Amino acid sequence: MRTVQVMTNSGETGFLDEAALAGFRASLQGEILLPGDDGYDAARTIWNGMINRRPGLIARCGDAGDVAHAVNLARYHDILVAVKGGGHNVAGNAVCQGGLMIDLSSMRSIEVDAARREARVEPGCLLGDLDKATQKHGLATPGGIVSTTGVAGLTLGGGFGWLSRKFGLSVDNLISADVVTADGETLTASADENPDLFWGIRGGGGNFGVATSFRFRLHEVGPQVYAGLIVQPFSKARDCMRFHRDFVADAPEELSVWLVVRHAPPLPFLPESVHGQLVLIIAFLHVGDASEGERLIKPVSRFGAPLGAHVGIASFTGWQKGFDPLNAPGARNYWKSCNLNDLNDGAIDTVLEYAEEFPSPHCEIFIPHLAGAVSRVPSDATAYGHRDAPFLINVHTRWESPADDRRCISWARELFDALRPYSAGSVYVNFISDEGAERVHDAYTQATWERLVDLKTKYDPQNLFRLNQNIKPRD
Ligand SMILES: Cc1cc2nc3c(=O)[nH]c(=O)nc-3n(C[C@H](O)[C@H](O)[C@H](O)COP(=O)(O)OP(=O)(O)OC[C@H]3O[C@@H](n4cnc5c(N)ncnc54)[C@H](O)[C@@H]3O)c2cc1C
Repeated sequence: MRTVQVMTNSGETGFLDEAALAGFRASLQGEILLPGDDGYDAARTIWNGMINRRPGLIARCGDAGDVAHAVNLARYHDILVAVKGGGHNVAGNAVCQGGLMIDLSSMRSIEVDAARREARVEPGCLLGDLDKATQKHGLATPGGIVSTTGVAGLTLGGGFGWLSRKFGLSVDNLISADVVTADGETLTASADENPDLFWGIRGGGGNFGVATSFRFRLHEVGPQVYAGLIVQPFSKARDCMRFHRDFVADAPEELSVWLVVRHAPPLPFLPESVHGQLVLIIAFLHVGDASEGERLIKPVSRFGAPLGAHVGIASFTGWQKGFDPLNAPGARNYWKSCNLNDLNDGAIDTVLEYAEEFPSPHCEIFIPHLAGAVSRVPSDATAYGHRDAPFLINVHTRWESPADDRRCISWARELFDALRPYSAGSVYVNFISDEGAERVHDAYTQATWERLVDLKTKYDPQNLFRLNQNIKPRD
């Protein structure tokens, strides 16, 4: 064991001496990783290849007790803390330079109670783990659309995907969570226990503590669903997007249809001549009877002259992995995102104008459609910010070489500025890159923000959990 250099919360260099480190190590079920140790580099590597930080030490926690020990160590020695769930967040706050990284990736168990339709999920689980475990029973809960995303970060920010129009956000299906707060206490947060904390963790991110388990409500889904991709030529994208706007306005909540503007990947159902061309991809999933899904999507598949389509009955877990290859870890990523009250002509034209200038072939503009169960929950019921926006635009800028950083980021920012007149002004907290305090505020209504600041002041008055989309406590 050796003395370890760490970063303090005030940005100064501090040291953990041998005794402190030995005591910490002895207290853990899991392990400590120090610079140079096997596994250290793998543990500090996250999805966004732009983030290359070297924590002073990594606590790879084995259980909730380990998390409490790590939080206590950080508080006692005033060490900068980062918390890693699935390590997918584009902002890269899962890893810190010099501080203590609380790595939850080994805490990956899931218990499904099929009779009660509930699942208890540890915070290192990925969405694919959760789908796999619940689908064994023909059950699922709403999560995101890429299976390698962490359940923890996604849920704490809100969480939506193909099931959300029907069953709501991930947080709408959260029954309770266990949370280690800044003082090292483990609290259960639910409607009955610590309800203020329960409200805050349903959208307020990792600001109030480290969640060590989540209990979700499950629904009957699949194991087969009617889903697919319809690929339209870019030249007809404007008409298709206008049609889409009108179509989804009346679509039942069982049907989710999202748009993606990008260069066509080499999908086997597309002619080779289309690969690499700019296209509009219409992706959909129907929850429920397959023949009803087939009937509902017909107007979309019959619109215009698609370049290709892959539509039919799919396994839900397979569908949930469909976008994984386009989102593999390691590439450089920068996101700009905004909510929309309406997918109006101005927004459509702006998206298409900028898509023609994509700064790399890996970029995409994603337009999810929500509404339905998400917007029926009262806006003050949880900390999730803006339930009334039916659409959002996520500008996913993705490229390979650091030499392209400036060009790619500038393109995303310019597109975002051009979209401003059409945007609702608000944003989904989990889609914010490292964009400063004001943008975090935009993720919440003013009333929610005030309540979040009060809660932060109560549960984390020293802002121990500051490496996140941060809500500062009152002075
Ligand atoms: C390719 C891709 C696709 C995505 N698709 C969707 C989607 O369809 N729907 C959607 O809603 N979101 C989606 N997201 C966004 C996703 O919700 C966020 O990136 C989320 O933060 C990922 O969670 P994580 O645990 O993997 O992240 P991490 O990077 O590990 O964590 C993000 C932050 O959450 C906090 N945190 C994580 N775990 C804990 C914990 N246990 N306790 C306290 N705080 C914690 C920390 O502050 C941390 O910095 C997507 C992201 C990517 C990269």
